[in-house]
Amino acid sequence: MSSSTAQIGVTGLAVMGRNLARNFARNGYTVALHNRTAARTHDLVAEFGEEGIFVPTETAEEFVAALERPRRLVIMVKAGAATDAVIGEFAPLLEPGDMIVDGGNAHFADTRRREKELREQGIHFVGTGVSGGEEGALHGPSIMPGGSVESYAALGPMLEKISAKAKDGAPCVTHVGPDGAGHFVKMVHNGIEYADMQLIGEAYQLLRDVGGYTPAQIADVFRTWNTGRLDSYLIEITAEVLSHVDAATDRPFVDIVQDRAEQKGTGRWTVQIALDLGVPVSGIAEAVFARSLSGHADLRAASGELAGPRPEPIADTERADFADHVEQALYASKIVSYTQGFHEIAAGSAEYDWDIDLGAVARIWRGGCIIRAAFLDRITAAYEADPGLVSLLSDKGFAEEIAAAQNDWRSVVSTAVTEGVPTPGFAAALAYYDTLRAERLPAALTQGQRDFFGAHTYRRVDREGSFHTLWGGDR
Ligand code: NAP
Repeated sequence: MSSSTAQIGVTGLAVMGRNLARNFARNGYTVALHNRTAARTHDLVAEFGEEGIFVPTETAEEFVAALERPRRLVIMVKAGAATDAVIGEFAPLLEPGDMIVDGGNAHFADTRRREKELREQGIHFVGTGVSGGEEGALHGPSIMPGGSVESYAALGPMLEKISAKAKDGAPCVTHVGPDGAGHFVKMVHNGIEYADMQLIGEAYQLLRDVGGYTPAQIADVFRTWNTGRLDSYLIEITAEVLSHVDAATDRPFVDIVQDRAEQKGTGRWTVQIALDLGVPVSGIAEAVFARSLSGHADLRAASGELAGPRPEPIADTERADFADHVEQALYASKIVSYTQGFHEIAAGSAEYDWDIDLGAVARIWRGGCIIRAAFLDRITAAYEADPGLVSLLSDKGFAEEIAAAQNDWRSVVSTAVTEGVPTPGFAAALAYYDTLRAERLPAALTQGQRDFFGAHTYRRVDREGSFHTLWGGDR
């Protein structure tokens, strides 16, 4: 193949990059390929060369020379130092106007730094969240590009072509905002994913320990839920996982897996950044902590003798009602998680002047990504009806649904507490909801304590200004 013919290039051909490159090729684009270890490049062409037009290259110079101008170069390598190394290798070979798309799971602060450095060379750096795992990368991911408006003009049509399409046919990609906006939104997407998974896990545990259902029966319950308002990819795959039987032991698969959840870091970042921005994402934080606590085998082993109830399954006749109540608790808690996640995006957008369209974010999560769900149509509609919506919970529709769910939600949390089943996600979501509803919070007492020991002052309900009380006694 002669040089300078590829419309796009992908460097980093592990599972994600390889499938993304194939996706571009299947959509009719000529794709230049590069990987640090050239064998991956050649393997891709050998296995999938028939799918489209690929231009395999071995050196950075060959790769850059294969791209038509302005160049569009996608990096799909390990986030962190590897991304910096690859940028360091390619940037000196590029020219003003060229675009580097980082599709890895970069921290948005790194993206902001890289964008600024490359902008000084006239290169557009497009930090891009890509969700959907390897299948999504191949068949259509949800794509969250940041970067300049000019870069989106050049990249947008290609990204729209390879992206997932929602049920109404809309491509699951939008220009999220400048510099780190795309990676920020992808980070919060992953935080919400952690919360969704935790809530589903709590529903499963309650159905099993209190409802007395088997994993296969719970799979059927989830399948039914998946035909209603909880219709989502995560509910769908949960049913698959729960109905899977381990071939070696003939036991439910879920019983032969060690109950220690792992994590790669984006959930943790979501919580760290939320703390910095002063955004209460308690549901997401509980999900991150639940994974962390599950992994502390030492703590759990040392606590084996702690007192408490062992859940007793309820009567068969009560099961179906109990499952309905758990569905209500799950749905209400999910609304709270999304409320918290969108609050974090709004706060990030305000902090960094990104001007993110929250309705558009919900729209591009409707297909391709891990948290895709029918429910996202509702969020899009809520922000379309009121772009200035302060909280999803102030949307009339969501408020009404939570109002209808809250009695069952409370009864499920009470049952969990009484029976000793940990449900940090359900309980944290309910506490968030009740905090918003409360007429008075004990924060008044907290302010009094702060003024007492640290003269931190307080504000009064009846007068403007800051006040300090001269507390008695020696301190
Ligand atoms: P990965 O395991 O994260 O990374 C492997 C790739 O990085 C290989 O191509 C490797 O090249 C390259 N690499 C590592 N260090 C390098 C260095 N110093 N210089 C040049 N190349 C280097 O691959 P992945 O799972 O396909 O993920 C790629 C990116 O997408 C990551 O940022 C990941 O977080 C993100 N992501 C992954 C998923 C997923 O489901 N896996 C989903 C969304 C986003 P060699 O072949 O030479 O070792």
